[in-house]
Amino acid sequence: MRKIIVATLCCVPFISFDILYAHEHGSLEAHEHGKIDINVALNHNVLALEVDGPAASITGFEYAPSSTTDKEVAKLAKQQLENPLVLFAIAHNAQCTLTTTNVEGAVFGSAKEKDVHKAESGHEEKEAHHHSDIEAQYSFTCKQPDALKQLDFANFFKVFPLTKQINLQYIGTEGQKGANLTSTNSQFKLNQ
Ligand SMILES: [Zn+2]
Repeated sequence: MRKIIVATLCCVPFISFDILYAHEHGSLEAHEHGKIDINVALNHNVLALEVDGPAASITGFEYAPSSTTDKEVAKLAKQQLENPLVLFAIAHNAQCTLTTTNVEGAVFGSAKEKDVHKAESGHEEKEAHHHSDIEAQYSFTCKQPDALKQLDFANFFKVFPLTKQINLQYIGTEGQKGANLTSTNSQFKLNQ
C-alpha cells in the first residue's frame, strides 16, 4: 500500500508537467521555427499577400538586435521583404503595381504586442525564452489579373534559407485552397 502511495506521489508532478507542456506547445503551434504562413487573396484586380511567421525563419533570431552583425541581418531582411515583386515572382504581364507594403516585427524594432510571446518552461522562470513573429502585408493593383497564373516562392526560399516550409492559403474567385510549399516544390497555381 505504502509503495502505491509513493509511486502515485512520485508521478504526479511529471503528469502535470506533461499536461502543461502539451498545453504550452498547443498554444504555440502556429509558431514553429522554419515555417512561414502566407495568405494570398485575389479579388478582381486587387492582389493581397500576407506573410506571418516566426522571426527565426527569416533572420535566425527573435530578439531586437543590438550587435552590428544582427542589425545588418535584420536591415537586409527587411529590405528583401519590402521587395515582394521579386520575392513572390509575380508575373510581369499581369502588370501589378505595389500599392501598400507594411513589414514589422520585434527584430526590426517594430512589433505589435501580440507578436511577442513569452514561452516559459513552467518550472524554471529564469529559463523563459522570448519568441517573436514577423508580419508583412502587401497589396497590388493588377491591370491584367488573368495573367496571374501562378506564384513561385523559389526566391523566397533562396533569400530566406531558414524557411523550410511555407503554409500557403489562397482565396480567389473560384474558392479557397491551400498548399505546403518547399524549396523543391515552390510553385502554386492560382487557377486549375
Ligand atoms: Zn520562436
